[in-house]
Amino acid sequence: MTFEETKEKVRQYAEKYAAKKGYRLNPNPEELDLVYEGLAKRREQYGAQYCPCRIVLGDKEEDRKIICPCIYHADEIEQDGMCHCALFFKAE
Ligand code: SF4
Repeated sequence: MTFEETKEKVRQYAEKYAAKKGYRLNPNPEELDLVYEGLAKRREQYGAQYCPCRIVLGDKEEDRKIICPCIYHADEIEQDGMCHCALFFKAE
């Protein structure tokens, strides 16, 4: 799979997940693309889409928490209006 294909998979995942949860995606296309790239790189490097804004520790149990959608995003979106990476935003 090429990097572009991996990135496309990430984009499809994010759109589907946002629609399901009623979130918005980052309205800035460049920022959104950067997060997609970060997630795609992690998918290629680790075989799982670990959060590009957090450190992968190498501990499977711990790292599972930061596979996108990470365990933190719902609280972050509720409190800050967006997740840590600014991928998902609270709907207005
Ligand atoms: S902070 Fe956002 S982009 Fe990062 S893993 Fe959590 S939901 Fe995904």
